Amino acid sequence: MILEANNIKKFFGKNEVLKDISFNVKEGEVICIIGPSGSGKSTLLRCLNRLEEIQAGTIQILGEEITAMKNINNLRKEIGMVFQLFNLFPNYTVLDNITMAPILLNKMSKKEAETKALALLEQVGLTDFKDVYPSTLSGGQKQRVAIARALEMGPRIMLFDEPTSALDPEMVGEVLKVMKDLAQAGMTMVVVTHEMGFAREVADRVIFMDGGYIVEENTPKELFSHPQSKRCQTFLSSVL
Ligand code: ADP
Ligand code: MG
Repeated sequence: MILEANNIKKFFGKNEVLKDISFNVKEGEVICIIGPSGSGKSTLLRCLNRLEEIQAGTIQILGEEITAMKNINNLRKEIGMVFQLFNLFPNYTVLDNITMAPILLNKMSKKEAETKALALLEQVGLTDFKDVYPSTLSGGQKQRVAIARALEMGPRIMLFDEPTSALDPEMVGEVLKVMKDLAQAGMTMVVVTHEMGFAREVADRVIFMDGGYIVEENTPKELFSHPQSKRCQTFLSSVL
């Protein structure tokens, strides 16, 4: 088991946005999380690497309780995260964006970090762009750099929060392709997405969230063809 979340609750003030969430992710699995806006998907991902603190429940990554971890960098090393809006550092080249964290955290020498980064740039199809600045890249290219950066530390699990939602339609495919390749290479992934085609094709399981709850969890085949709840049926009919 890579990740095990049990009965987690998250409040913003009095607003309970995660209500008794439990799920787990096994090594090599791809889990897609779908659901309407405001259902708690981003908050859930952010809790998994302690960008947000939970108020109840437990989250274990690789068997270790994350709320008990003294050094958050050890957790972040195991978890790669990719956001909707890339968050690349504008004043650093593509290569420096990727190598910065491991060098600053003394996890790798500069040479080691660069060798690894160049291999990752090849993997995401951006070898020729290593020395350019993010502003010269398209949205799809930026997101592929962000994926390479998240992979640089050698994470055991990758979290994606709507990685293609901010992209022009013609760039969605190139990013989904990189994610699909990653899944096929055996990476454990949790992906919040509106791309139902990707979920159907790549996910081992799909989780449907609404109102802070996991309402349904099933294989994509079952969930998309036989949604059990009215809420999931309504959601799917609005997006498919
Ligand atoms: P989703 O990603 O599914 O659209 P979110 O996790 O972003 O949903 O939001 C879930 C709920 O939590 C929403 O009601 C949202 O307004 C609220 N929320 C999210 N982030 C914060 C925050 N930093 N402070 C207060 N409320 C928040
Ligand atoms: Mg969100």
